Amino acid sequence: MNPEDYVVLEKEHMSGGMARRPAVIVRGEGARITDASGKEYLDLSGAHGWASVGHCHPEVTRAIAAQAARLVMHTENGYNDQRALWFRDLSAILEREVGSTEKGPLTRIHPCNSGAEAVEGAIKAARYFTGRPGIVAAKRAFHGRTLGALSATWKPHYREPFLPLVPEFHHVPFNDPSVLEEAVTEKTAALLLEVVQGEGGVHPATPEFLDAARRICDERGALLVFDEIQTGMGRTGKWFACGHFQARPDILLLGKALGGGIPMGAVCWRREIGTFEAGRHASTFGGGPLPCAASRAVLEVMEKEDLPGRAARLGAEALERLKKEKPPKVREVRGLGLMIGLELKVKVNPILRALMEKGVWALPAGPTVLRLLPPLVITEDELNRALDVILEVLHG
Ligand SMILES: *Cc1c(COP(=O)(O)O)cnc(C)c1O
Repeated sequence: MNPEDYVVLEKEHMSGGMARRPAVIVRGEGARITDASGKEYLDLSGAHGWASVGHCHPEVTRAIAAQAARLVMHTENGYNDQRALWFRDLSAILEREVGSTEKGPLTRIHPCNSGAEAVEGAIKAARYFTGRPGIVAAKRAFHGRTLGALSATWKPHYREPFLPLVPEFHHVPFNDPSVLEEAVTEKTAALLLEVVQGEGGVHPATPEFLDAARRICDERGALLVFDEIQTGMGRTGKWFACGHFQARPDILLLGKALGGGIPMGAVCWRREIGTFEAGRHASTFGGGPLPCAASRAVLEVMEKEDLPGRAARLGAEALERLKKEKPPKVREVRGLGLMIGLELKVKVNPILRALMEKGVWALPAGPTVLRLLPPLVITEDELNRALDVILEVLHG
């Protein structure tokens, strides 16, 4: 088939829910993806943030193939070697990196199949463990598109056609500690926050905001949930973005990079908070042997190659260069590790198209922010070449 034939076929059947770029991507390796005509792109989108270990990392590919030949799937209604070892490995990293509080370490884990599902799990866990209905989220927040997660998501374009959403959700301005006193009440089950708002434009939280969130949740008996679906797994230069701050969550959510490309999410909460009674929450595919084997390989590669450290180093260099050579079209450069946003004075979509023509695949975050989430394995040379192209296009 010609590449155009795949485009025609997809256009015939696609739901329309996700905008597509005119390229048929068929291969990936490290930080590079290749389309059906053989054109190569530097993947500065990290495949929408899931490709921390890059595309087709040999150790992850090997783990997936080996597990696929042994046992692809068994539900959580029995025990499994891969799930047990994954629980052990992930909770050890969480305990080391996020530590323990009086509620214990983050070693109770509900495995699921996507970020949105992890948010759903957190909403249910917070309501279940507190017996309260309310969820407070932030303006500009993105937490996913299923009805519960969408209720916590801010953007009217995503929400409005689907009203009414789940009741008892409230939104407060991000990074304004003063509003939390009134917003978090005795009826609040959880305060749900991104540590760096991703889709909302790459806005890191301030320490004052997260400290106030922690204190007020403690005072009111609400749970503090950090959605680290985009910021977790080394993206910001630490294993979890909350590692840059003092404030610690009661529940931490993971997705995207967790499974190395195999769909996976996780709701991780403090041990002393409790467990669900059987039947209250579960998923057929969640915690299957295949994603658990893939994720174990991801965790191992990230430790061995120190990818969080690499993200910190490369991210700091990239930020410094972008700030120093800031083109007139750029209003502000923000970021943490390899999560970088360029606030533009122009619309981002024509810029994305121009970048694509020159072999750089980047992301938007709203109408005027160019977002860069390269795989953490990107080489220095690849990252500099991509930045050359970005600066050239933005100077044009
Ligand atoms: C991507 C994302 C989600 C949703 O994850 P899906 O796997 O697309 O459902 C939720 N929260 C944050 C912060 C995200 O970046």
